[in-house]
Amino acid sequence: MSYDRRLAAARAAMAEAGVGAMVVSGLVNVRYLTGFTGSNGLVVIGPEAATLLTDFRYQTASDPLRAWVDVELAERDVIRTAADRLGELAAGAGKVGFEPALLTVERHAILAASHDGLTPAPGLIEKLRAVKDDEELDAVRASAALIEPVYAALADEGLAGRTEQDVAWRVRELFHEGGADDIAFDTIVASHERGAQPHAEPAAVPIGADTLVTIDLGCILAGYNSDCTRTFATGTPPLELARAYDVCLQSQLAAMDAIRPGIPASTVDLAARSLIEDAGYGERFGHPTGHGLGLEVHEAPRVGSKTAATLEPGMVVTVEPGIYLPGVGGVRIEDLVIVTPTGGERLTMYPKDLVTVG
Ligand code: ZN
Ligand code: ZN
Repeated sequence: MSYDRRLAAARAAMAEAGVGAMVVSGLVNVRYLTGFTGSNGLVVIGPEAATLLTDFRYQTASDPLRAWVDVELAERDVIRTAADRLGELAAGAGKVGFEPALLTVERHAILAASHDGLTPAPGLIEKLRAVKDDEELDAVRASAALIEPVYAALADEGLAGRTEQDVAWRVRELFHEGGADDIAFDTIVASHERGAQPHAEPAAVPIGADTLVTIDLGCILAGYNSDCTRTFATGTPPLELARAYDVCLQSQLAAMDAIRPGIPASTVDLAARSLIEDAGYGERFGHPTGHGLGLEVHEAPRVGSKTAATLEPGMVVTVEPGIYLPGVGGVRIEDLVIVTPTGGERLTMYPKDLVTVG
């Protein structure tokens, strides 16, 4: 397991940020650093050791983690225990970092009352998580591999005449049948004019003929997410939507082509956006081109016009331009990609040419 390496990387990042110890309270970050998957835990990384604080309910589950982290069972309130133990666990550390985006004001006050040197250390673990190790990349690959059969089954079964809610429910069943642990987020099924809402909620009305249907879905497998969007046609969509589909596809392909290590993530956004702008739809593409993905569906790096991040091998990002035409409908096409030493490895292989289904 790579938890020793991750904890060492966290210490290096802490040293760079000028903190000698750190209270990691975000549960996803706790999981990343230690493998702990419960609902109540935090890690204190001190100069000498890392200590996971959790409670009795997770005693058995946390036993195997003792190979790389000390485990202490606290009363239910782990933050009070951390406050009580901080003097010892962070002895000689000087400044103690905390995660300002992930610690409530109340919990911060409890820690601050027990320690003078508390200092914000924003995004430290998130930055480490942005570059995945081989084990994580395999986990994302496995999660993404469950997507193609779901689209294939949906296309086979047809969309017209079923409600968007029925299709969303079917997606959940299909992922379960395929071996997924859960869906990664509420599936989006958006037909007719609802396709103009990037995050439409599936409606309880039947999908009709001659419309585009945007289906954005993903699953969780062994903690790692996947995320993909395809837009299908039922019959012959209105001419304007057919044109929007073509533009969106060209934009998506251009952005996929642009992916390589060493370039700003904003370059990928620009590749997608300029094609859509040139076609006159610039105003109708109002979200970033993509986002990082791993233990969370949305994590670093963002792939937007103002993103400062540089793409590095081991990053996992989505490429998902869309065109949304109010009152008419919309289209989005999304792939999941690993940034490799030479370019990009596409993980979501279902076809992107417009697929017409019944
Ligand atoms: Zn998506
Ligand atoms: Zn996405």
